[in-house]
Amino acid sequence: MGINIRRILPGYFFLIGLILLASCGIRDKKWKGQAPLERVETATRPIQYQLKKTYAVGNGIYLSNEFEGARLNGVALTGKNEVSVLITPENTPINESPWYAFKIWSDTPQEIQLKLTYTAGYSHRYYPKISNNGKTWTRIDSSACHPDPAALNTKESPKYCTLDLSLTSDTLWIAAQELIVSTDIYKWAEQLSESSFVVTSDLAKSREGRPIKIMQIGNPESKKLLMILSRQHPPEVTGWLAMKAFVERLCVPEDSLASLFRNEYCIYVVPCMNPDGVDNGHWRNSSAGIDLNRDWEAFNQPETQAVRKFMQEKILQKHTFYFAVDFHSTFEDIFYTISPKLKGNMPGLVPKIIKTMAKHIPGYDPNIRPNEKDALRINSTVSIFHSFHAEAMTYEVGDDTPRELIKKKGELTAESMMELMLSGTTTQNH
Ligand SMILES: [Zn+2]
Repeated sequence: MGINIRRILPGYFFLIGLILLASCGIRDKKWKGQAPLERVETATRPIQYQLKKTYAVGNGIYLSNEFEGARLNGVALTGKNEVSVLITPENTPINESPWYAFKIWSDTPQEIQLKLTYTAGYSHRYYPKISNNGKTWTRIDSSACHPDPAALNTKESPKYCTLDLSLTSDTLWIAAQELIVSTDIYKWAEQLSESSFVVTSDLAKSREGRPIKIMQIGNPESKKLLMILSRQHPPEVTGWLAMKAFVERLCVPEDSLASLFRNEYCIYVVPCMNPDGVDNGHWRNSSAGIDLNRDWEAFNQPETQAVRKFMQEKILQKHTFYFAVDFHSTFEDIFYTISPKLKGNMPGLVPKIIKTMAKHIPGYDPNIRPNEKDALRINSTVSIFHSFHAEAMTYEVGDDTPRELIKKKGELTAESMMELMLSGTTTQNH
């Protein structure tokens, strides 16, 4: 008896169809990323500064925003044992990334509910972090964190979030993400600069006069360059943590891969593009009230102008930028890349880095979103690709991505990049 192939064949096709449908379904579930870029005005706009003060709210409770990176715009006792804080942006319209950071304490030990509220039209985004010293942070216990219940089981973001807090006379710090301001970033850069192959210097000054520092890592004689950027957007601390791990991996002393790479290339890092925004606790913008990552075409602002001028001078000296990466944060991990149809100075490098890195993380299928069109050249990576032909990507880290995973991915991305850029295969395959 032979097998009736005609009878079983439709079944096979049905099965294959189901598998295809399922795999498409899985692909469709991936987050498609933020809305496409839109050209916006980047001429200076007014911003609202916070009133910096210690608020005596009543019942012996105090709150303060008198530190760098703080954001607290109003406080009131709104019920028995309930304190409400108001968090407002530097100006509007603005991307929904409401940053908050403040200190709170009480004359006498007491339990309170602290309600985080925002300007009308904006919602709660960042899961609260808590600290006893402003340096080491933990996520507040989930049993003590109560987002607006009206948003439960809906696609809406909560309008407010209430925290159960035990206050004492010891200062408690509450913040949207770990508090890492420009002085912390520059302290980190100075520590790395203790190595002979890292030199940190001032590139320019921000609008408010804060230093914009640049780190030079590797062989200063090399004409093969990289550009690494971070903190254009102040609350994007997880992006900064990824950049820190990435850069630290490049700087491991006496590591054979890193040593070879540092000998072959010279890496430039601007670890804090927007020190004014970071230190003022802004939601998004610079002290010019504009989104710096939309100013890479008009170049109206000193921060973007400084990086462009630096890169242009290197090109005049016959240097070549092969790779550029700008670290950011958003709702989930995602990589925004240049259209694969466009070839820069090392074609194919960026997707290879991401895929090589991902192979080392079991079960990880990276979300890569290439620009479908030769899009507007208003953000850093698209602009750097078109002006300097550096293979470029925007490396986005989720707000809640576990910090250990951020570190691991940052290090693995650096390793994959170093291996690929040293192998030279990327240039020959395309
Ligand atoms: Zn960003």
